[in-house]
Amino acid sequence: MAKYFPNTEISIHNDAECAAWAEYKLGAGKAFSNIICFTLGTGVGGGVIIDGKLLDKPCELGHIIVENNGKQCTCGQRGCLEAYASANAYNNAKSKDEFNKYMSQAIISLTNIFGTEAFVIGGGLANIGEELLMPIRELVNKNLRNGMNIPEILLAKVSDAGIIGAAML
Ligand SMILES: [Zn+2]
Repeated sequence: MAKYFPNTEISIHNDAECAAWAEYKLGAGKAFSNIICFTLGTGVGGGVIIDGKLLDKPCELGHIIVENNGKQCTCGQRGCLEAYASANAYNNAKSKDEFNKYMSQAIISLTNIFGTEAFVIGGGLANIGEELLMPIRELVNKNLRNGMNIPEILLAKVSDAGIIGAAML
């Protein structure tokens, strides 16, 4: 790439990271400096913004383990968030309780690591709207108990956030 764009700084990020950047700069995360954006689609992706900067390390938030010896994930591990929170997993689940439980667990754990102020939820599943987020908010409010601030959980606002974020990075 550098060969073709000699005077341009080139950085490589996955689509969820680009989406996080777009939401932080223009969308639901604008009012915060520490956000995490989850993209819930075919898989589960995520991007982390810390103190206004995109975490520039490989990270796979969809493959944090939320259930010991849980469902087989496509990545080879068991019990990944993606195995419960992708659009497929959500649509095939008999009840939405697992989705709510594992999403809230992931949000609580990440808040404990990063002190995240807001989680922005995008991707195909976010089209469900507020109804998708309400039970997760309730569980986070109830179970985050150690004095950390309760993070906001918000719907993504930027359409084509992955592409827009990529252009802005
Ligand atoms: Zn996995």
